[in-house]
Amino acid sequence: MKKQFAVIGLGRFGGSICESLSKQGMEVLAIDTNEEKVNRYANVATHAVVADSTDESTLKSLGIRNFDHVIVAIGDNIQSSILTTLMLVEQGVKHITVKAQNDYHEKVLNKIGAHKVVHPERDMGVRIAHNIVSKNVLDYLELSDEYSIVELMAGKAVNGKSLIELDIRAKYGCNIMAIKRGESINVSPHANELLHSGDILIVIGADADINRMEHTLFDDD
Ligand code: ADP
Repeated sequence: MKKQFAVIGLGRFGGSICESLSKQGMEVLAIDTNEEKVNRYANVATHAVVADSTDESTLKSLGIRNFDHVIVAIGDNIQSSILTTLMLVEQGVKHITVKAQNDYHEKVLNKIGAHKVVHPERDMGVRIAHNIVSKNVLDYLELSDEYSIVELMAGKAVNGKSLIELDIRAKYGCNIMAIKRGESINVSPHANELLHSGDILIVIGADADINRMEHTLFDDD
């Protein structure tokens, strides 16, 4: 059976979640207080309704507890976001993901029982800052305070060298999980694999180790 999702709040974030879930073939109920927004998503989502999610009886009449996953993407109105989340928790929704506006909001959402709290602006800011600081860092995913996965662009310094020659695991304590070359991706690179300029390496490791490796091997010019 198709998974059923409900997206509450159809701003830029909720709207893009709604579109992406629909494209992936999921059933999506799109909810917003703003009729114009609801009309915009009427042809994208499976159902789109004008409703105020802070109204408990409305949530009940939509049968919100039966959805597999509810995403609360209410932007600036922190009070509505918290109240909505609280009611979803009380009604026993199995998976609740909420967008937080700031750290204080995030703390409250975690306390009242949101299953996942996301901070898209902050996370994107961190990723972009890494890319701005080093042009070789194409993308960055924080795993914890100390560990991350980064995409590094191979340059002249590593061109034509094999992984075993570079000895990255022993020298820097990082692991190369995959190598992207053009359209192809090798998810279990062999030690004898030769790197080419322009390859994209997906590296996992401690931030300090990745930094050291990046400055030694990837800072070409
Ligand atoms: P973004 O930063 O993702 O663009 P916005 O603040 O622009 O977020 O959008 C949030 C959306 O949530 C708006 O379309 C707004 O109408 C909707 N919204 C706000 N409060 C409620 C509510 N109580 N019930 C349903 N939708 C709501």
